[in-house]
Amino acid sequence: MKVNHWTLARRVVQLTVIGLLLTPCLGWGLFQGNLQSASLLGLKLSDPLAALQVLLLTGTVALPLLGGALLVLGGYGLLGGKTFCGWVCPLGLVTDVFEYLPSTRQLRIWPLRGKMIALLVVLLLSLTLKIPAFETISPIGIVSRALSFGPASDLLLVAAILLVEVLLVRRFWCRSLCPLGGFYSLAGRVSPLRIGYRAEACTHCDRCRRSCFVFEVLDAPLVEGTSHVVSGECTRCGACLDACPTGALNMRFQHPLK
Ligand code: SF4
Ligand code: SF4
Repeated sequence: MKVNHWTLARRVVQLTVIGLLLTPCLGWGLFQGNLQSASLLGLKLSDPLAALQVLLLTGTVALPLLGGALLVLGGYGLLGGKTFCGWVCPLGLVTDVFEYLPSTRQLRIWPLRGKMIALLVVLLLSLTLKIPAFETISPIGIVSRALSFGPASDLLLVAAILLVEVLLVRRFWCRSLCPLGGFYSLAGRVSPLRIGYRAEACTHCDRCRRSCFVFEVLDAPLVEGTSHVVSGECTRCGACLDACPTGALNMRFQHPLK
C-alpha cells in the first residue's frame, strides 16, 4: 500500500498543534494562549498580522509583541509563508477533511486573489476606523480560542463557513477570503523553501494538479516550464509530491529570488 508520507507528516503536525492548543484546558504550562498570541515553553509568539493591526490601530506596538511577531514571520517566511495554512491552521485541517468528500470537489471555485482584497480591507479598517477587524471575526482565532478555552457561540460563524464550503464553493475561505492566508502568501513569494520540478521526469499525468486545492500554482512548472512553483499561494503541503508517480516534484531550499 502506498504511504503518502507528506500528508502523514502534515497530519501529525496539525494534530500536534491542536494538542498544544488544548493544553491550557488541561492545566499544563507547556503552551499558553492561542494562535494570535502565545507562549511556548516561555518563548513569546505572536500572529504578525494581529501585530500589524495593533500598529495601525494605535501607532505603536509593544516590544514583546513585535519580537514574537517577527519570530513567527521569520519562521514561516523561511519555511514557505503559507506553510501556516497547510501545516498549522486548525481550520485548515477541518476544511482539508472535507476535501475527501467527492461531492465537494465538484463544486465551483472562486479566484485566489480575493484574499489580497480582504487583507487590504482589514488593514484599511484598522487604520481608519481603529478596529482590529480581522481579529474580531477570524474563524482561525475562533477555533483556536475554542480549543484553548472551550466552545463559544461564535463557532456558528465557523459552521457557516464550513456549510458554504460543503454545499456551494470549494475551499472558499482558504482559497479566496482569508486575509491571513493573503498575508502569508506575500512571505511565500520570497521564501527559500520551494516545490521544485524536473520537466524531464514529468509525464503530464495531471495527478499533482488534482491533489492540490490551489492547483493554479502548478501551471508555472507544468505549462510555462519554470523549475519550481513560483506562486506564494503554495502551502508547501506536499500533497503534489505524494501524488506524483514519477518523482518529478520535490521540496527543496533554493535562493529566494531565483
Ligand atoms: S503545489 Fe503542491 S505543495 Fe503547493 S499547495 Fe499545491 S499540492 Fe501543496
Ligand atoms: S504528477 Fe508528476 S508526472 Fe504527473 S503531471 Fe504532476 S509532476 Fe508531472
